[in-house]
Amino acid sequence: MSHDAEAGLPGELPGYLPLYSGKVRELFAPIDPETGLVDRSRLLLVASDRISAFDHVIDSPIPDKGAVLTQLSLWWFDQLADLVPHHVIDTAVPAQVAGRALNVRRLRMLPVECIARAYLTGSGLSDYRETGSVCGVELPAGLVDGSRLAEPIFTPTTKAPFGQHDEPMRFEDVEDELGPALAARVRDLTIAILARGNEIAADRGILIADTKVEYGVDPVSLGLPTADAEEEIDWTTVDPDAIQVVLADEVLTPDSSRFWRASQWEPGHPQTSYDKQVLRDWLLSADSGWDRSSNQAPPPLPDEVVELTRARYVEAYETLTGRTFAPDPAASD
Ligand code: ATP
Ligand code: MG
Repeated sequence: MSHDAEAGLPGELPGYLPLYSGKVRELFAPIDPETGLVDRSRLLLVASDRISAFDHVIDSPIPDKGAVLTQLSLWWFDQLADLVPHHVIDTAVPAQVAGRALNVRRLRMLPVECIARAYLTGSGLSDYRETGSVCGVELPAGLVDGSRLAEPIFTPTTKAPFGQHDEPMRFEDVEDELGPALAARVRDLTIAILARGNEIAADRGILIADTKVEYGVDPVSLGLPTADAEEEIDWTTVDPDAIQVVLADEVLTPDSSRFWRASQWEPGHPQTSYDKQVLRDWLLSADSGWDRSSNQAPPPLPDEVVELTRARYVEAYETLTGRTFAPDPAASD
C-alpha cells in the first residue's frame, strides 16, 4: 500500500488540484467541470490519518484519526457559531474522502498561531519556570505543572514553516504584525473559544488545558482578488471594522488541544491526557530506542500504541459530542 493510502488519502482526486500538503491536512482546489478553471474561492480540506509528535510526522498512521478530527471540528464549529463565524461550507465531498473532508471558504490566513491556555503545562510551563511569565503574560509565583490559571491567557506563536519550531510571540509582537485592533480581536476570540469549550467540556468530565486556533479573512473583503496567494498582506493597514475574522483549519481537537479527565486532574505533575500522551510516552521510553535529541526520524509505532492512540481519539470525540463515532456518518444515516 502506498503511504497515501495508509494515511487514508486518495492517490489523486479527479476534479481537484492539489495545492498544499500540511503535517496532517491536504488542501485541494476544485476545478469547475464546465470551464476547466480552478475555483479559487473554496478548498477541499482533507484530514489524513498522519500523526505528528515532537515536530516529526510519525511513520505509522492512526486509522480513522482524520475522520475524528474532521467530525469533532465540525461539531465544535457549530457549538461556537454564535461566537465566531467559521470556514465550513458543507460536507458534500468526493466518496474517497467522505467523513474526513470538508468544503471550506478559501481564506488568507493570519500569520499567527493563536493559543490560549486555561492551565499551565508544556512549553508554557517551561517559559514560566524560566521567566515567571508566558509570552510576556506575567503570572503569580508558585504555579506548578497543571495549575489552573485565574483566567485563560493568550500565548500566541509564529507560524514557522514545517520542520522549524513556532516561536513564542508577546502580545506586542502580534500588534506589530496585525495592528492593535485586529490583535485584540483575535486574542479575545481565542480566549472566548477556550472558555466556551471548557464550559461545554466540563459537563462531559473533560478539561481543556490549552488550545490553538487559526483565523483567516476572505480576500475579497480585503479588496484582493479571490485567494491570490502570492500577494503579501500588510495586516496593519487593513481596517479591522471592514473585515470578518473567520475561524479556519480545525478547532478544539486532540491535535490542537490538551484534553484532561477532570476527575484525575491533580496539579503538581504531568496530567494524563486524551491526546498524544500514549504516543509521546512510548517514543520517550527505552522501548522505542529513539533519541529525541538525535534529529533522526522516530521509528514506526507498535500495533498496541497505534490502537491505544486511535482509541483515545475516538473516546475524545464520543465523550465530547455524546455521539457514536462512524468513519463516514453520511453512509450510516
Ligand atoms: P500545524 O497545524 O501543526 O501548525 P500545518 O500547517 O502543517 O501545521 P495542517 O493542519 O496539516 O497544518 O494543514 C492545514 C493548512 O491549511 C494550514 O496551513 C492552515 O493554515 C491551512 N488552512 C486551514 N483552513 C484554511 C482555509 N479556510 N483557507 C486557507 N487555508 C487554510
Ligand atoms: Mg493545522
